[in-house]
Amino acid sequence: MSDILAGLNEQQRQAVTTTEGFIRVIAGAGSGKTRALSHRFAYLVNDIGIMPANILCVTFTNKSANEMKQRIRRLTGDSDTGYISTFHSFCVAVLQEDINTVQYPKNFLVLDNADIDAMLKIIYEERGLTLRHMTFSKARDMIEIRKIFKDPEYYEHMIALPLDKLQQRYLDAVEPDDIIFWGYLYQQKKCFSLDYNDLIKYVLYIFSVNEVIRLKWQKRLEYIMIDEYQDIDELQYRLMKVLCAYHQNLFIVGDPDQTIYTWRGASVWYILNFDKEFSNVRTIMMMTNYRSTPQIVAVANSLIGNNKHRIKKDLLPVLPDDTKVVYHHAKTAEAEAKWIVAEIKQLVANGIKLGDIAILYRAHYISRMLEEVLLKEEVPYKIYSGVQFFNRMEIKDALSYLRLIAYKDDLSFLRIANVPKRNIGERRMKFLQDYAMQNQCSLYSALERTIDSEIFKSTKAQQFVALIERFSAGYQGLPVSELLNAVLDQSGYEVMLRTEGSQERLDNLAELKQSVYEYEISCGEECTLEDYLAHVALLTNTDALSGQNSVKLMTVHTAKGLEFLHVFLCGLAEGVFPSRKTATLEGMEEERRLAFVAFTRAPKALFITDAEGRNFDGSHRYPSRFIFNVDKALLVYTNELDDSLVYETNWNITSSEKMLAAQASGPVFKPGDRIVHSILGSGAVIDIEYDKAAYVIKFDDLGTMRKINFKAKLEAESAF
Ligand code: ATP
Ligand code: MG
Repeated sequence: MSDILAGLNEQQRQAVTTTEGFIRVIAGAGSGKTRALSHRFAYLVNDIGIMPANILCVTFTNKSANEMKQRIRRLTGDSDTGYISTFHSFCVAVLQEDINTVQYPKNFLVLDNADIDAMLKIIYEERGLTLRHMTFSKARDMIEIRKIFKDPEYYEHMIALPLDKLQQRYLDAVEPDDIIFWGYLYQQKKCFSLDYNDLIKYVLYIFSVNEVIRLKWQKRLEYIMIDEYQDIDELQYRLMKVLCAYHQNLFIVGDPDQTIYTWRGASVWYILNFDKEFSNVRTIMMMTNYRSTPQIVAVANSLIGNNKHRIKKDLLPVLPDDTKVVYHHAKTAEAEAKWIVAEIKQLVANGIKLGDIAILYRAHYISRMLEEVLLKEEVPYKIYSGVQFFNRMEIKDALSYLRLIAYKDDLSFLRIANVPKRNIGERRMKFLQDYAMQNQCSLYSALERTIDSEIFKSTKAQQFVALIERFSAGYQGLPVSELLNAVLDQSGYEVMLRTEGSQERLDNLAELKQSVYEYEISCGEECTLEDYLAHVALLTNTDALSGQNSVKLMTVHTAKGLEFLHVFLCGLAEGVFPSRKTATLEGMEEERRLAFVAFTRAPKALFITDAEGRNFDGSHRYPSRFIFNVDKALLVYTNELDDSLVYETNWNITSSEKMLAAQASGPVFKPGDRIVHSILGSGAVIDIEYDKAAYVIKFDDLGTMRKINFKAKLEAESAF
């Protein structure tokens, strides 16, 4: 038997060796789906002789893509790993090859949030908007919602309108929303940049208008495999459907009990109806859980058994017995955090590595108290959220140097032209902006063209342009790591940090250099600067998930697909988890699935905790219903719960579940009611279509009415 099949169970072997046609694996948490997927890749390459470049393997995060690349490299011994990536990164690969079909250059720019903010800043300044009109994060949301829901064809304008026409739309706009939206599209086109929302749209568009290109990609991708399929959304689904149409080899794995992104447009419908959407589908089920102890598996089964809308399936444990899951109730958030940290110290005293411990929570704000106590007790920790590594000032600056060399774009120019100080301050920048506006050119070329004028006499603009020109002329063929070293050195950036005594920032730069170096190794010989920049733009905070000597803190969403030997799930209180925003039965079931994802991350030990206190609306905090959802005999309660807490909570459960059950069978709102939708915002119920089980709603921000499913997440407006 092939080595690749050793270490797999019968179903996994079937999944690996059934290479042709449409195959669906529906399997529980920790049952070896991701393992089957990566072994299948290796099997295709090693045993069948398929070229890695003809396989697309889609993972949910960049981190799992990297892990899979490493695994596959180990299994196949080949450095070429084909397309193992997230949907977004795959789209970048398509666009790098074919974006010129829509008259964009191949070295288009991929924007992250910080870049978008920098563009917003330009727009706000030009048009006299302030953060009181709209914060940047609200503006980003507004743009996203507009791109997804209100102006889904926006990209056709971006592609079709020449820059000056786009600029005119921006200048003609009057309402802040319009100014921001058109200003942003204009800024985007100006430097040929795309944000996450654009990537799939552009690819689908190119495929729809250019059959030759579509066929090229369809033919190239002989085998397509997708992990975490239960969380696929409509655009991703459309993309995948186009891609597999030629060879008709599609392999998907997922667990409907782990659908946790419906709030962002994902739908479990796609995995459940896979057999109706495609022909001759073969379905493989796997229920053995290899990850966790029987004690943890039992708790997870007990919890998810409370969901009504699911196909009933229990995970079967195989690992030997270990300790029971512990539940601790604390009087205050501080006491909860102290208890957790004391337990962690105990684990460490017993020889457990800090890197094998994770603390998970429903929402970021819960981490504050934990951080305080961890700091006080001097327990090293790392948060995988909040300010992301790649958004730190020094990292952005360093990357801006690289970007300016490759693209000479305005964003990077604005960021680093005067860092370190070159005496190109506000007045001179304004001069360049005016010149660029009048002459329809970039800021960098404005500087090049006016460099001899009086205004730049007492500046270091000459040296700056010389530096960038020197690197622009010579960077091709140079490893990115060398380029980065050289530019940080010759630009005076590192010297500046050293003079400032910013050791932490220098350390971060060292870490960046290390990550570039690792990237180069991972992608083999052909690693261009442009590849690297596109890669970095798509990284998220979890991608830096290493750190052997610190406790990992993250939200449950972030922990999806991962495992940590010892898991603490904290803040398991009503109003926190389930979130107080949960208003429908569907919503409550998604919260429960999220708790299920949290429980099933732990192979060895699981601790769940909650604390009394107040919610944002002033209500008292009770232990979460999810604790009482678990058979009491399966948990060790560290302290007996005060009856009032249990009583109140039980009351709470029945009343809200009653409300939720009512909602599942019919409408809860009536015409005239004001409601809030988590994505579309506020609106009024106009009518009810019972036959379609839908409300007809006029949203305040939308021109036309929308039909919204009874089951959608709606709340009464006054509840906010
Ligand atoms: P999730 O639903 O959380 O994504 P999953 O189904 O993808 O989980 P994996 O991450 O592939 O599960 O596997 C879970 C754990 O079980 C891993 O540590 C993996 O190495 C181990 N494992 C998977 N299959 C087997 C097997 N046949 N024998 C022994 N261990 C296995
Ligand atoms: Mg997995």
